[in-house]
Amino acid sequence: MAYIDAKEIKKSYKVGQIEINALNGVDFTINKGEFVVILGPSGAGKTTLLNILGGMDELTSGSIIIDEVIINKKKEKTLTQYRREDVGFVFQNYNLIQNLTALENVELATQISPNAKRPKDVLKIVGLSDRMNNFPAQLSGGEQQRVAIARAVAKNPKLLLCDEPTGALDTNTGKTVLLLLKQLAKEEQMTVIVITHNQVIAELADRVIRIVNGKVFSQVTQEPKDIKD
Ligand code: ADP
Ligand code: ADP
Repeated sequence: MAYIDAKEIKKSYKVGQIEINALNGVDFTINKGEFVVILGPSGAGKTTLLNILGGMDELTSGSIIIDEVIINKKKEKTLTQYRREDVGFVFQNYNLIQNLTALENVELATQISPNAKRPKDVLKIVGLSDRMNNFPAQLSGGEQQRVAIARAVAKNPKLLLCDEPTGALDTNTGKTVLLLLKQLAKEEQMTVIVITHNQVIAELADRVIRIVNGKVFSQVTQEPKDIKD
């Protein structure tokens, strides 16, 4: 059985008298441990989809089954628990707390998670053992994003949702970050979903789901390219 099974997902927002259809009937399945990139132009509905998968937004219609549970019918209490324990989030702008060190940022996230890994172990996995006492401002963009990834992964989530994680990085740093996410998917048996509008980054994924106008435009399973330089 697929880990994620999304059927006919629709989402509309009411803005005054106008109804905006962000998602117009999206269907897909994703397997456990799969590394999927969601690609598409601005306004296509990618963030809306990610927010729904993360239990941060509600569907208008359709259904989403994750790990055999219908998440759109969960009560708010179990949805909070789902967000807290089962899902990790990574954002474009890292969202690190500036007056905490890298280690403290990761520790903070593990305090509310019953299944958490040891912060120092995770910082080692992302290659930052020697930078863990640095504050975010003392780290490069790529390093800050690796701290943010460590923070998300330290919760030991089953699902890692990343919204433009390479959007603020140059292409090579972005590739490094993407390959790290991919390695984590394989080694930690995490399902990883990454939003991007960068075609170069998308080429590193196992599968690309292209969203256009709130619909799945195409799905391609690919032999991922490796970094050449
Ligand atoms: P993407 O992430 O692909 O750029 P989004 O999911 O952010 O696309 O947005 C899809 C559409 O839904 C856009 O037309 C956007 O303006 C609209 N939208 C997103 N969030 C809201 C909201 N909270 N209220 C109203 N419209 C929204
Ligand atoms: P990038 O080109 O990847 O953004 P930088 O040139 O900003 O990287 O940084 C190169 C190295 O110097 C990185 O390892 C970064 O952590 C370190 N560094 C940058 N700024 C500071 C700082 N203010 N204090 C300590 N280390 C820093």
